[in-house]
Amino acid sequence: MAMKKTYFFVFLFIILGGIYFAFQENFSDSLFSKFQNKPLKDSEKFAVHIHPHLEIEILGKTQVIPAGIGLSQSFHESIHTHDLSGEIHVESPVLREFYLSEFFSVWKKSFNETCIMEYCIDENHTMSFYVNEVKSDHYGSLLLRDLDRIKIIYQEKNR
Ligand SMILES: [Zn+2]
Repeated sequence: MAMKKTYFFVFLFIILGGIYFAFQENFSDSLFSKFQNKPLKDSEKFAVHIHPHLEIEILGKTQVIPAGIGLSQSFHESIHTHDLSGEIHVESPVLREFYLSEFFSVWKKSFNETCIMEYCIDENHTMSFYVNEVKSDHYGSLLLRDLDRIKIIYQEKNR
């Protein structure tokens, strides 16, 4: 009887030990990945943190996209700019999708298939829209993705 009990405990010990080591391995893995990049990167503070790049060319001139779009003393929009590089910061504690039209509404400029800011297509002018150098017809409905290079070109026809 005592022998049986001993076997049982040895058996239990091996099982529990196995479970313990399995968990410990996962645990230390996740601890390692959590702390290997100290201090915490910005990207870990937000559910969404992406940086698409926007360039706007109007009649041959690159438009300056100002720094500080979406940033004020009292409130930071999820979509904003920090500098003149054309980098759009999308930083949100809430996991959801963001669209290019949202950047333009934060900026308070118009953008759709016919107009970019106050420049609209007419018999002499056209507009093209590129994502990573590939022509796109998404315009404002473009889903913003990290590091995508978005380019809007408004120009005279036949040029
Ligand atoms: Zn950012």
